[in-house]
Amino acid sequence: MSRPVRVRFAPSPTGPLHIGGVRTALYNYLFARQNGGKMILRIEDTDSQRFVPGAEDYINEALAWLGIEIDEGVREGGPFGPYKQSERRDIYREHVKILLDRGRAYIAFDTPEELEAKRAEIPNFQYDAHTRNMMRNSLTLPKEEVESLIDAGEKYVVRFKVEPGRDVVVDDLLRGKVTIKSDILDDKVLYKSADDLPTYHLANIVDDHLMEISHVIRGEEWLPSAPLHVLLYEAFEWSDTAPAFVHLPLLLKPDGKGKLSKRDGDRLGFPVFPLEWHDPKSGDISAGYRESGYLPEAVVNFLALLGWNPGDDTEVMAMDELIRKFSFAHCSRSGAKFAFEKGKWFNHTYLQETSDERIAELFKPLMEAEGVDMNRFSDEYIAKAVGTLKSRINFVKDLVETGRFYFAAPETYAPKDIKKRWNAETPAIMQDLIGVLDSIGDFSATATEPIVMDWIKSNELHMGNVMNAFRLAVVGECKGPHMFEITEILGKDETIARISRAIERIHADESSI
Ligand code: GLU
Repeated sequence: MSRPVRVRFAPSPTGPLHIGGVRTALYNYLFARQNGGKMILRIEDTDSQRFVPGAEDYINEALAWLGIEIDEGVREGGPFGPYKQSERRDIYREHVKILLDRGRAYIAFDTPEELEAKRAEIPNFQYDAHTRNMMRNSLTLPKEEVESLIDAGEKYVVRFKVEPGRDVVVDDLLRGKVTIKSDILDDKVLYKSADDLPTYHLANIVDDHLMEISHVIRGEEWLPSAPLHVLLYEAFEWSDTAPAFVHLPLLLKPDGKGKLSKRDGDRLGFPVFPLEWHDPKSGDISAGYRESGYLPEAVVNFLALLGWNPGDDTEVMAMDELIRKFSFAHCSRSGAKFAFEKGKWFNHTYLQETSDERIAELFKPLMEAEGVDMNRFSDEYIAKAVGTLKSRINFVKDLVETGRFYFAAPETYAPKDIKKRWNAETPAIMQDLIGVLDSIGDFSATATEPIVMDWIKSNELHMGNVMNAFRLAVVGECKGPHMFEITEILGKDETIARISRAIERIHADESSI
């Protein structure tokens, strides 16, 4: 029986989206697009205690940045809305009633203190078939008392009544069938009268059903909830259309076992969030991939391979190729180490494929932030400058250092290069070089290079010393792209001005300026 593919990414707006959540969203998206299905974004904001302002906008912005398109959601709308759980209270209330009427759930009045006392009294207490008859609930209290307590406004919860002695089968597309005994499950709370909200379990199941979700693709941390979910589908008599489960393996620390955490990122210097996050309470700022200079395509490619491979050694795959190749058959069941160095490599690789114009656009604000007025330079100039440097960088922000000389003459000259390449004769040679350059009409690299080379050779000058002194004068250090590409971009006047300036400023004997 094949049904239309409808998947959902269902984050709770309790903070910034973690990189593991982004991977979950990505796998949902790849699977949806591959199958001509729909990608739904559902905001699971039923935990009013943990709600964080700004988190929902953050989720939308992060997915948009990465190119993970949503077909139905709070912003997008769609035929199965509302897509925010706090706006679906009526629906949940109705479904709580169905379970109560069928005797698959019951009302419990136990206060936190009473529950605490029971935990102290009974080792490993859990609310289940063995203990529910000792508690204050609609199974133990007379009907009239239950009604009068509710009428009096006493707070209650609705608990799912797990029948003991059952084998519960969770069928996971990655893990196969896993059977567990229902006796180990507790009677989970499904609804709280205090805030008139369902818990995650009820809301999630009801919505997956009503939104006609075909596949639940989510992190492994939700696997322990799956048996309860299976029982809930059964209690609602929805088992026939229950979605298929896929529980994705955890993202692990780069350097060892255990779950990847924000602390690992802080310790090893990589972001664990897609976008920078400003915590509204503490004011803390956490680094994001976007602000750290990653291209979204690189992040997508890197994340896609953390838990999946295309079945061969191909590594560089853009979104459309990922969509074509993705399959659960090549998803791993064990955790994926978060190899963040590989993320840098992906970024470097994608930068080489990115147009100079786009890199220039990303680079401009970074230089502006450094106090350089980039309006003095044409877009064409900036793009050409960037083009000479991109093979040397992992991040656009690396250009701030490596590319600064294109936008400002050097203020200082590297002392070790002065020592090595600038001696008493250098100023006179540089003066001659100015004369040679000044006589050149076409200042392109291809025209300039042979003229300067001929001049060096016919005067029997030392090639390395002359070219390095030239570079030191123009760049400020003996590093950088091809010298004549640089001079072509800077132009004749600027090149000559820089050499003159260096002649004035560099004093060989002091190895400094
Ligand atoms: N709201 C849950 C979360 O924050 C959804 C888990 C699921 O996909 O079922 O991840």
